[in-house]
Amino acid sequence: SNVTVGFVGLGHMGGPMAANLAKAGYQVLGFDLVPAALEQAAKDGITVVSSSDDAAKADVVITMLPSGKHVLDLYSGGLLAAAKPGTLFIDSSTIDVADAKAANELAVAAGHRAVDAPVSGGVAGAAAGTLAFMVGGEAEDFEAAKPLLDVMGAKIVHCGGAGVGQAAKICNNMILGVSMIAVSEAFVLGEKLGLTNQAMFDVVSNASGQCWSLTSYCPVPGPVPASPANKDYQPGFATALMHKDLGLAANALRANGVDGLLGLQAEEIYKRFKDETGGGLDFSAIVTDIRKRSGE
Ligand code: NAD
Repeated sequence: SNVTVGFVGLGHMGGPMAANLAKAGYQVLGFDLVPAALEQAAKDGITVVSSSDDAAKADVVITMLPSGKHVLDLYSGGLLAAAKPGTLFIDSSTIDVADAKAANELAVAAGHRAVDAPVSGGVAGAAAGTLAFMVGGEAEDFEAAKPLLDVMGAKIVHCGGAGVGQAAKICNNMILGVSMIAVSEAFVLGEKLGLTNQAMFDVVSNASGQCWSLTSYCPVPGPVPASPANKDYQPGFATALMHKDLGLAANALRANGVDGLLGLQAEEIYKRFKDETGGGLDFSAIVTDIRKRSGE
């Protein structure tokens, strides 16, 4: 392809995503603040450049950064000004809905086009090119972004206008966090009542309590052999990342006056667990914390 892609943020997710674009034949101009990330990128066929502004000289600029502050600092700190008029900016970081809208407004005001395109699927999905992208922005900008997203992902959904991709991401992860706590509380209650984990699984996985947190990612070892519970809760999806996403959901609940008691409580429960453990365990390890606090 003749389309050049700037890629800023070559970390756990951005590194393999950029590598897949290079593998697909795009010229990728990559930048990160961490030298080790640049060394790996060079091995993956990415053209390493010496600043984010240099990466912004491409036709499309993708950012994959830790937080909304990083995105807004870059957008307002010269990245937009360094780009050719009409450049398409794709931000795939998971950030506040309000920050995503602000980033979009900055890009449009600078004469560019922008979509928010957060992902799910984790590092494994990034490496395999099977991420799910949830996209917010104008329809024509979504169409322009889609060929690149198809290289990095398997399921690409246009969710609505600016910020609405981020909305889909935090709504999904709020359901995930709340449902994992609910499933974990039920396992611990079952244990107290003499119900084995396997018997509870056999009943609930075929009953109305069925959900992904139970049947695909079971927080106790045994019923779902591939779940992190069977590997000492190695992530998977780390507690710190779940807590980050629940914080974004809590911000949005408050900012929009939603009576989201469970979402707000889930953020506090994961904050406590993160503070106790450092946040490196898979988020399904919350069951071990509930068990401990229940005196088992
Ligand atoms: P990461 O910390 O591994 O990568 C972020 C990278 O951005 C780092 O390498 C950092 O050096 C770089 N960076 C920061 N500021 C920069 C700047 N000014 N210029 C250039 N580079 C800069 O994080 P990650 O795990 O790759 O996650 C990135 C985003 O994706 C986050 O918003 C995260 O919430 C989201 N996300 C992560 C996962 C996951 O499983 N890791 C899954 C879905 C979404």
